[in-house]
Amino acid sequence: MRRLHRVELKLQDRLALFRKTKSIANASVADTRAAWKRFRATKASEPINEALASMAGSRVRCAYCSDSFASDVDHFRPIATFPQKAFDWENMIRVCTTCNRKKGERFPLGGDGEPRLIDPTTEDPWSHLTLDPQTGFIAPRYTLAGFDEFGEATLAILETINFEAATEARRKQARRLLGAMKFVLDDDDSRESRRELSIEVANDELGISRWYAHWEGSAEEFPIQLQAKYLLTWKAFVRKAAKTT
Ligand SMILES: [Zn+2]
Repeated sequence: MRRLHRVELKLQDRLALFRKTKSIANASVADTRAAWKRFRATKASEPINEALASMAGSRVRCAYCSDSFASDVDHFRPIATFPQKAFDWENMIRVCTTCNRKKGERFPLGGDGEPRLIDPTTEDPWSHLTLDPQTGFIAPRYTLAGFDEFGEATLAILETINFEAATEARRKQARRLLGAMKFVLDDDDSRESRRELSIEVANDELGISRWYAHWEGSAEEFPIQLQAKYLLTWKAFVRKAAKTT
């Protein structure tokens, strides 16, 4: 799971969704589901589907596991419990079929009535999760108050996040990023080495750059050396990592 930036929809597409929302104002869950299915088969849904795909990066990876192809549109708040949000742009996200099935209608709410599933389009998932870069495994954050509720709920529902292919991809991405940082250090901050680091960040669709730039990863050996020796390159890395999906 990595931070995603929601793109702006064109006005005409926003209007199309707004009209659909009005048309289902008093509809049952079953009728809303049918309306959504019908809408998905129309041309009006194409720009929305494309906008969602553009948020998912060049390889259109799943917003939850970050690994498999995001072939489905998921309603973050499920139609079963939030039918009025079926055509809400902010409630749509591209995910893979496996994650979509795992999530199903599960959408835990906390004692405050707010969702406990992490929405990667509104916040950085690393604020609730931690990474072991050696294995690529993700766990809920642990604080004095206990395990992070959002992290726990998300990982309990989306076990796919720690499926072998997903953890392996994260482990490899972490290695590539550290390798590029080491190249900068070994090559005295050469233009070529800076370029390679920049390319690695741009190619990272797993949120690992953010981990090294903004979270615990920044306290590891190479990031620390980079900060100490080549501050400008480090700052460029941090800025670029914040922009990646
Ligand atoms: Zn997935």
